[in-house]
Amino acid sequence: MNEDFGDITSFLLDMDGTVYLSDKLFPGVLDFLAALRRTGRGVLFFTNNSSQDGAGYSRKLTGLGIAVEPGGIVTSGAATVDYLNDVARVQRVYALGTASFEEELRAGGLLLDDQQPQAVVLGFDLTLTYDKLRRACQFILQGVPFIASHPDLTCPTSEGPIPDCGAITALITAATGIAPVVIGKPHRYMVDAALKRLGSTPAQTAIVGDRLYTDMEMGFRSELRTVLVLSGESTEADVAKAARKPDLVVPSIAELIPLIS
Ligand SMILES: [Mg+2]
Repeated sequence: MNEDFGDITSFLLDMDGTVYLSDKLFPGVLDFLAALRRTGRGVLFFTNNSSQDGAGYSRKLTGLGIAVEPGGIVTSGAATVDYLNDVARVQRVYALGTASFEEELRAGGLLLDDQQPQAVVLGFDLTLTYDKLRRACQFILQGVPFIASHPDLTCPTSEGPIPDCGAITALITAATGIAPVVIGKPHRYMVDAALKRLGSTPAQTAIVGDRLYTDMEMGFRSELRTVLVLSGESTEADVAKAARKPDLVVPSIAELIPLIS
């Protein structure tokens, strides 16, 4: 395992399961962030969770004692807005997501349209209803492109995992036979946005996350330094079974402090 962080100037930090679980900050997080600052390293918080926007996460982190501006956070929702504007080049979308996700789409210049949308956009919809599912499937079967903000099957909470965007995607795909374009981790689109903000190259950047199939997979694909924490979803047994191992596996973020100091 590579435990030398001498060449690493920037850290991408996953949030759910890495920095906190629900509303509980993991021990050592504040000291880890202080060590990053002390050693002049950049940090960007990163999440596939599209139920809140950057401002929402900024409030949440600030409430937990981590002062961070909305620009210090990249969500899959923000990356989805970029994709819709820059790649898909659509304006009218049918959205399945929270009020915050809808607001993020509107703020990004998109129009919410439940009559003739140019894309069906799925986020982590904590307000999902059967009516929304039915309409989304009808549009998709009519040939409207299907875009999902991220592939996570579940979201970790202090009460156990709850169904996330990937699980809702699976339902829609089962009903329509059509798989979406997926934007969030582990896909490259999100990494490029993050590296641009950090001003770092893949070789100078480490990703710290709790999931093999999103965080670590993204690091592998983009050739970032990969650090898996076992404080969230993945277990040592998962690592043992994984075809490709992260550069470093630690019980939690606290164990990284001596390695970067
Ligand atoms: Mg996570």
